[in-house]
Amino acid sequence: MKSTVFAGILLMSSIAAAAPPKTALVIHGGAGVITRAQLSAEDQAGYEKALNAALDAGNAVLQRGGSAREAVIASVTVLEDSPLFNAGKGAVYNAEGGHELDASLMEGHTGKAGAVAGVRTIKNPILLAEAVMQHSPHVLLAGEGAEHFADTRKEIERVPPEYFDTEHRYKQLLKAQAEEKQTASNDLKGKYFGTVGAVALDRNGHIAAATSTGGMTNKRWSRIGDSPIIGAGTYANDQCGVSGTGWGEFFIRAAVAHDICARMKYRGDSLTQAAEEVLLKVVPEMGGDGGAIALDRDGNIALPFNTEGMYRGWIKPDGSRGVAIFKD
Ligand code: ASP
Repeated sequence: MKSTVFAGILLMSSIAAAAPPKTALVIHGGAGVITRAQLSAEDQAGYEKALNAALDAGNAVLQRGGSAREAVIASVTVLEDSPLFNAGKGAVYNAEGGHELDASLMEGHTGKAGAVAGVRTIKNPILLAEAVMQHSPHVLLAGEGAEHFADTRKEIERVPPEYFDTEHRYKQLLKAQAEEKQTASNDLKGKYFGTVGAVALDRNGHIAAATSTGGMTNKRWSRIGDSPIIGAGTYANDQCGVSGTGWGEFFIRAAVAHDICARMKYRGDSLTQAAEEVLLKVVPEMGGDGGAIALDRDGNIALPFNTEGMYRGWIKPDGSRGVAIFKD
């Protein structure tokens, strides 16, 4: 009898040891005024295909035992290379008719972070953010200095600034400039067009978060939003990771990504409670809007947004996956 119980315990512990550790991945392609009426079935299918490709890229890294950092980079580069999203190839125009791109990356278990702001010739800004984290003593490099740093990194692909030109973004610029002439309002609600991001949990229980954007259409004076600001648009620690999208000025002022993780760490909030309170209460009460993707070390995910839609996708620890665009 004793030996049967012992054998049973042995069998159970070997099953537990053989069970693959949990991985999870969440991505976003921006929040904003995204309604069914605006998107044709064909456009919707195009967005879903791109979101699924980004999930596949990040998940392939996690399933072969790669790190959360490598996984978020893999997902975000796919989204940057798509003209559909406001990051990399699909970046919006600034007021001068150019493009200035921002990106950031943070690794939870090491607390290391890297970011770039206002770069103009970097094909994948998230890769330069990673280089800042891995190969410089700094966290955030901006403008010309960031481009000079890129000169020292052979692996960073450069493109002429025109690479980022797309017709649909140019039309958005002309529309924004026409509207600006008619109203002197400072209300930027709905005037932004996305941002991309990813958060991953790897087999070692490590979390990383990454965000990349072209910022706000018609931006001027080297405006920088929340996306390259660690703690605002991106944050990760040993329990939680977050990437945000929305009206960046409010995300900076509310330290959105850090606040979500801090509520978990210091107050013991659940991930959902923390993420929903910040996105559905704190940010709108201040007058801002947007969304975020978040996950914790148990593989729980939260995708709250207070806009009409948010391009998003997820793969849970049990392998179930999905992509969605609208609220319902
Ligand atoms: N948060 C970005 C910014 O303010 C824009 C966005 O997410 O749509 O630059």
